[in-house]
Amino acid sequence: MTQDCVFCRIVAGEAPAQIVYQDDLVTAFWDIRPVAPVHILIAPNAHYRSLNEMGPEEEAVAGRMMLVARQIAQEQGIADRGYRLILNTGRDAGQVVFHVHLHLLGGRRMRYPLG
Ligand code: AMP
Ligand code: ZN
Repeated sequence: MTQDCVFCRIVAGEAPAQIVYQDDLVTAFWDIRPVAPVHILIAPNAHYRSLNEMGPEEEAVAGRMMLVARQIAQEQGIADRGYRLILNTGRDAGQVVFHVHLHLLGGRRMRYPLG
């Protein structure tokens, strides 16, 4: 765990968060500033600054993030209507929290074009 990382602290139960799911590999919690009726973040329990730090050894956790997002979409009742997954990587993408996380967005019609 990285002490000065807010998502590491959430994973460890040391910072407040509305946790919706946790297992041996990932933790999911509501985004503090939701931009859609459903806005949940799915983060690995281990600290990776960005997707650029994840390699073949992280295949299991990377896959888990996506499947947990799918499962939460189901539980939140947005799976059939549709939802969007976003994984910002680096400055150009607007990443502000440097602990990998997948955004699950849904509950309203998403806008296009992307970017
Ligand atoms: P990004 O790094 O741009 O992919 O997005 C970081 C996201 O983390 C933003 O949507 C923030 O609202 C969210 N966020 C930042 N701090 C917290 C926190 N303590 N708990 C929950 N969400 C957070
Ligand atoms: Zn971290």
